[in-house]
Amino acid sequence: MEPAKALRVAVVGAGPSGFYAAESLLKQRPEAVIDLFDRLPAPFGLVRYGVAPDHQKIKSVTKVYDRLLADDRLRFRGNVEVGRDLTAEDLRRHYHATVFTYGAALDRRLGIPGEDLDGSMSATDFVAWYNGHPDFADLDPRLDGHTALVIGVGNVAVDVTRVLAKTRAELAVSDISDPALDALAGSQVRDVVVIGRRGPAEAKWSTKELRELGELEDADVIVDPADLVVSDESRAAIADDPVARRNLEVLEELAARPARGLSRRIHLRFLRSPIAIEADASGTRVAAVVLERNRLEARDDGSLAARGTGVTERLEAQLVFRSVGYRGEAMPGLPFDERWSVVPNDHGRVLTARDGDPVPGWYVAGWIKRGPTGVIGTNKACAVETVSTLLSDDLPGIAPADADPAAVDALLARRGVQVVDADGWRRIDAAEIGAGAAVGRPRVKFGTREALLAASRG
Ligand SMILES: Cc1cc2nc3c(=O)[nH]c(=O)nc-3n(C[C@H](O)[C@H](O)[C@H](O)COP(=O)(O)OP(=O)(O)OC[C@H]3O[C@@H](n4cnc5c(N)ncnc54)[C@H](O)[C@@H]3O)c2cc1C
Repeated sequence: MEPAKALRVAVVGAGPSGFYAAESLLKQRPEAVIDLFDRLPAPFGLVRYGVAPDHQKIKSVTKVYDRLLADDRLRFRGNVEVGRDLTAEDLRRHYHATVFTYGAALDRRLGIPGEDLDGSMSATDFVAWYNGHPDFADLDPRLDGHTALVIGVGNVAVDVTRVLAKTRAELAVSDISDPALDALAGSQVRDVVVIGRRGPAEAKWSTKELRELGELEDADVIVDPADLVVSDESRAAIADDPVARRNLEVLEELAARPARGLSRRIHLRFLRSPIAIEADASGTRVAAVVLERNRLEARDDGSLAARGTGVTERLEAQLVFRSVGYRGEAMPGLPFDERWSVVPNDHGRVLTARDGDPVPGWYVAGWIKRGPTGVIGTNKACAVETVSTLLSDDLPGIAPADADPAAVDALLARRGVQVVDADGWRRIDAAEIGAGAAVGRPRVKFGTREALLAASRG
């Protein structure tokens, strides 16, 4: 097979959707060749840097991705940021098609006073920090306060809560970053208050994650039964939702459980929204959060929205983690839908933002295609749909100006980019696993870009 004549595809982002797009493409077009780019030296996106470090079973999905990295039709090109080291137009010059799978790495904000005080941060940043993401090595969340408030009742909020409430011994068996392990072991946080703007029936956490909160070694879960009074409208809204019904049952079990007098407490509260974060006497650090009580109001579509009642309460807290969702960002040269923070597309085919015409040869999959929802497996169906769209287009009709695989590497070398290939990643992986084995942990991660690059060189 002449490589220059094969279908050459660039995939931008080595998270789950990038791997699933590559897998589907190679399955359906065995003669295709793929370059898989990532801005980080290490692959796997949020599986490495988002999924909780104490959920190793979930992280083991990377075994499937490792098999793809060993396929000689796929070249991993890590530490290459598209939009900076390579432009979208460079990709057009070198590939028949590009699938953008670069995720949704930004956080959503609350838009309330005090959000930028020291001690108030996004769960996005905190999660990246405890997972050893090299861009967050300097976060230093200062865990010297007694009370942390977690805003949001989804699985990311539960991850953050669990990590804050676990003991050193519980965390040490995970692949949490070394600095985070030390900081959390010395944490003064004793009370973690989790709040949802809607009621207990509307919380978005999964039953398994919720139940896990009740299984921690040294943390009681406190739920006020008064908070679990569910209106007829809420009951009707979840009548066909078995997850929500099971979640309510778990909450009722937790509320009925007597506190064991453990050293940490997790409080689950509902129908409250933060309206302001107050500073301490220095004017720079979080000291308290003003919460407004909500009631639920039916929308036209039958769902229930939270509406403020004007009744407020003040909660003393020194740390605030907002966990109210992720959002995508624009990539230079690529259309972007500001309203939904996704790349506009039709079944994965990129559309121009203004008139919605297809952009030849450009595709999207994963979170940047459909927004930050779903579990890892959701990205598989999403990527398969995109690849079907791609293969239904007349791609060989788009001839790249320079399809020689060596040309992209030469371009990156001229631009001074230190590329990490699959062998480089294997050296990082082996070194991390080796360091972990020495101390009885799954791996010890390199926490800076320099350390990752040095390890990739061996
Ligand atoms: C905190 C958290 C916990 C989660 N836990 C679970 C869980 O327990 N179970 C579960 O099933 N799902 C979980 N998820 C969801 C799951 O991680 C996502 O569904 C999935 O990772 C999305 O895949 P993706 O490939 O679209 O994006 P990502 O995983 O974000 O991958 C995008 C990749 O693109 C790269 N990239 C970004 N910009 C560029 C650029 N300019 N150039 C080159 N590369 C770029 C990034 O470095 C990244 O590697 C969790 C998500 C979060 C945020």
